[in-house]
Amino acid sequence: MTARALPILMYHHVCPQPGLVTLSPENFAAQMEYLAASGYHTVGCAGLESFLRGEPLPDKSLLITFDDGYLDNYVYAYPILRRLGLHAVIFLVTDWIGEHGEARALAGEPGAPSTLNHRQCMEVVAAGRADAAMMRWSEVLRMRDEGVFEFHSHTASHTRWDKRCAHAEEKSAALADDLQRSRSTLKQQLGIEDRHLCWPQGYFDADYQRIAAAQGFTHLYTTQPGTVIVGGEATALPRIVVKDKGAGWLASRLRIYQSPLLTRWYGRIRGRR
Ligand SMILES: [Zn+2]
Repeated sequence: MTARALPILMYHHVCPQPGLVTLSPENFAAQMEYLAASGYHTVGCAGLESFLRGEPLPDKSLLITFDDGYLDNYVYAYPILRRLGLHAVIFLVTDWIGEHGEARALAGEPGAPSTLNHRQCMEVVAAGRADAAMMRWSEVLRMRDEGVFEFHSHTASHTRWDKRCAHAEEKSAALADDLQRSRSTLKQQLGIEDRHLCWPQGYFDADYQRIAAAQGFTHLYTTQPGTVIVGGEATALPRIVVKDKGAGWLASRLRIYQSPLLTRWYGRIRGRR
């Protein structure tokens, strides 16, 4: 059996502090254990690229993504994924990733850092103390080298230039600079020519897509619900918001999003609500 659809799951935080866009480590572990025990294949961005080109992937393939690059992904999600042999993607806000310092301890190890809820993370980032909320490059490299995570762009600054700029030319120039800076940081830190970009807060328009293409980004990730199908649009990839619930919830959603037909049906029902 080969996959007819490739669902992309979207996570932000995995930590014990409840808050927006957060899963408890217990629920995240239950979801990942379900995937591992049920024979799911966690592909990377190369797998997504080849699926879109029409090359077959095994049935039960999916892509796990995290946005922003929070410290809790390293402390809590990374050991769970590593234990289960699963693979995932983190879209980094490259300006927020710490230049200095050794990789910190993981959950359960002595000296493991405490993590913050979503609101606190945004506050320390705004106050110029991103290290308390976000990963360091040393941690990114550790996870990359072990093959657990791969890393792509979520812009350099996570700024909504469409809200910040009064004129279209100003917006376009600011976004182009933001994307260019993110790409050059990823090249410098990880040695990659990145092609995969995730939009901050899911916002994009035709200008944004044109500018991203000019910067070399071929695959653009949104927050629009849906599933990826063969021959689908690489420049508007849908993702599934994962809730702070256990394995049963994830299983029920994957039953829908593994089927192009059920996804269309479910989208119509959701649209009517
Ligand atoms: Zn984000």
